[in-house]
Amino acid sequence: MPDTPIRVTGWNEFVHERTNQAVAEIYPDGIHAAIVKLLDERLGSAVRTRTATLDEPEHGLTDDVLSETDVLTWWGHAAHDRVDDAVVDRVQRHVLEGMGLIVLHSGHASKIFRRLMGTNCSLRWREAAERERLWIVNPSHPIAEGLEGEYFELAHAEMYGEFFDIPAPDELIFISWFEGGEVFRGGSTFRRGGGKIFYFCPGHETFPIYYDKNVRRVIANAVRWAAPCGSPYRGKGRNIAEPLSPITAEHKVDESLHRPK
Ligand code: ZN
Repeated sequence: MPDTPIRVTGWNEFVHERTNQAVAEIYPDGIHAAIVKLLDERLGSAVRTRTATLDEPEHGLTDDVLSETDVLTWWGHAAHDRVDDAVVDRVQRHVLEGMGLIVLHSGHASKIFRRLMGTNCSLRWREAAERERLWIVNPSHPIAEGLEGEYFELAHAEMYGEFFDIPAPDELIFISWFEGGEVFRGGSTFRRGGGKIFYFCPGHETFPIYYDKNVRRVIANAVRWAAPCGSPYRGKGRNIAEPLSPITAEHKVDESLHRPK
């Protein structure tokens, strides 16, 4: 455990929980509250959590909040288009500068995930309350730490299936299999600039998935994994490098070929 707490901001569009009775009964305080509560319960003083939602000014993701965030978790479904592009730019910049990002379930179609992936992030889906079996295909990865057996299951899940239009993940941690026959890259990691990203499939709003002990363990593990680890890289863009030792080349650089700094 790190000496200083990992600062986590749990973001949620917070729409379904206020418009759908079934969702409100499962997540009375919103999915964002369930996420930060599970982190507080699992990680205790190793994390310091806060939440942010769509309806807050700047969606609760001001530069000050993001500067004080080590890991941002993202849940959205009904209101991806209502997320302001300026906020997407800002979150992307913070990821490139080292902030971790955990994208949950239908967040696959969020502006920020599509921006960071550079692809559509579309997938096949079916809402049939079917069994999901998550095979652990990278058992030594920190995100799989403490999981027992070769897989874990959710009794009722929304099916997400291939083809999932993402770039090849840096690491694949889970492959989801569904009762109806499909498979899906259900847990995968990406690195963009100085930041680490984890996409995790489970989390449909009408099932109590964020109360499942294995799902909770995975999300807590992912937060610890995604936290910045002190890399000096901060994605600040174009910098002129002074040589560390004398360069004796005779070729003279034509400074006029470079754009003004
Ligand atoms: Zn869903």
